[in-house]
Amino acid sequence: MALEKAVIEELRRAVGREHVIDSKNDLRIFERDASIEGAVPDAVVLPANTAEVSSVIRVAAKHRIPIVPRGAGTGLSGGAVTIHGGIALQVTRMRRILEIDPIAQTALVEPGVVNQELSLAAAAHKLFYAPDPSSQKACTIGGNAAENSGGPHCLYYGVTTNHVLGMEVVFADGSVHWVSGDSPDRIGLDLCGVLVGSEGTLCAITKIKVRLLRTPPSVATLLAAFPTIEAASQAVSAVIGSGIVPAALEMMDQVCVGAVEAHYHAGYPTDAGAVLLVEVDGIPESTIELMAAVRAVLSQNQGYAMREAQSPAERDLLWAGRKGAIGALGRIKPNYYLHDGVVPRSKLPQILSAVGEIGIHYKLPVANVFHAGDGNLHPNILFDLRERDVLPQVESAGEEMLRAVVELGGALSGEHGIGLEKSAFMPWVYSADDLDAMQRVKVALDAHGIMNPGKIFPDPKRKHAQLAGRTGLAIEAKWW
Ligand SMILES: Cc1cc2nc3c(=O)[nH]c(=O)nc-3n(C[C@H](O)[C@H](O)[C@H](O)COP(=O)(O)OP(=O)(O)OC[C@H]3O[C@@H](n4cnc5c(N)ncnc54)[C@H](O)[C@@H]3O)c2cc1C
Repeated sequence: MALEKAVIEELRRAVGREHVIDSKNDLRIFERDASIEGAVPDAVVLPANTAEVSSVIRVAAKHRIPIVPRGAGTGLSGGAVTIHGGIALQVTRMRRILEIDPIAQTALVEPGVVNQELSLAAAAHKLFYAPDPSSQKACTIGGNAAENSGGPHCLYYGVTTNHVLGMEVVFADGSVHWVSGDSPDRIGLDLCGVLVGSEGTLCAITKIKVRLLRTPPSVATLLAAFPTIEAASQAVSAVIGSGIVPAALEMMDQVCVGAVEAHYHAGYPTDAGAVLLVEVDGIPESTIELMAAVRAVLSQNQGYAMREAQSPAERDLLWAGRKGAIGALGRIKPNYYLHDGVVPRSKLPQILSAVGEIGIHYKLPVANVFHAGDGNLHPNILFDLRERDVLPQVESAGEEMLRAVVELGGALSGEHGIGLEKSAFMPWVYSADDLDAMQRVKVALDAHGIMNPGKIFPDPKRKHAQLAGRTGLAIEAKWW
């Protein structure tokens, strides 16, 4: 439903005429993120600073219009999709790195700064920003904070919440606040902890202060092949079980390796059932020692054809293959549907065999590329949207995979957030009382429910009836 002309005029007064988009064709660009469901916003607003964000949110609050913060739109759970219409608050004009303090090892950035740009800027000071989603060439630090994103190197260094020191945020009434700050210990109520990972449902993030780390003097990166995905999973458990926590421990199955190798020519072994990419870093002596220990454990667990990168260029190429894996899968099918459930590492062989069986049952190819060290799966269900009636099949397969994750004691998401597509499954892991506690926080900060409605919490207007029918769970229809 189009917004009234008077509302559009108010928004134009807030951010400038040319920074409000309301033409039908232009709005379609903002219909989607990187997940599978889309909805066209009624208007897109591109503020330049915190004051403009606040003014826009005040307009939305006055007219009770949904407002959905949006970064680069690379989200994989539908978080930035305006499922109830309203305003997409596109923050990508706010992309300044305001400060890098090499002594304190911190950076203060606007939310639209692209993840990789921050690391490149920090490198000049021999520092780096650790959370490195595979989408880091495109995704924003604001999106990372909102999703509490992970990445290959978060196994050792921790996910985004471990690196956010404080944030400037705008709440649903347009008020501007700083939460936390410089101190490593968050005194008072840990509002920053609540807001990191809140997926745009509690606030718009307008500045982020992050921790930077010293670039390690030495890095070693190893590619190892395994005959089967089960053997590679066993090796992952064995590495961690031996007391080594590598900087990164990533897995790709044969389907994925085939697509990656065809695209990147990085020397990935296409005959292997699965490969592991293992990285250790630190001072040179400890890197050598750790890598020798990793090699020994991998060999004892059927690892073969081990190849250590001999130069930064070779290392970059191996990582380009891993980080570009989802794109490379486009060689097999044009569309993918990706969940990111997490299981205890020891359950990797079971969940991967369940994922394989579900793919076979639905006659859908599945490619696994994932943060194995964290037990964080990424089964990509591959399909062609042009095929008749394929989407419900794909969604059912994804739901069954998540069900299997939960049955093995896992969690619905390791890093991509709940968003739109997993909200209906929240009652699988939280009781009605647990959800009610979360909703009370939501109501306290957003009494009229304008911030990114329809996300995280089961939405009675959507999958509710279907889910209740299938699982026997009675989800209380108390959310708007
Ligand atoms: C190929 C590929 C690989 C990926 N790899 C990883 C990975 O390794 N690890 C990982 O964790 N994720 C990964 N992702 C998912 C995605 O990139 C991350 O979730 C990322 O943090 C989203 O950032 P974005 O700027 O694109 O946010 P968007 O998609 O625009 O938004 C994501 C969510 O954040 C909210 N949001 C955005 N900006 C703000 C703001 N300023 N204030 C408040 N809320 C805001 C939105 O409302 C939405 O709910 C991958 C995605 C792709 C396509």
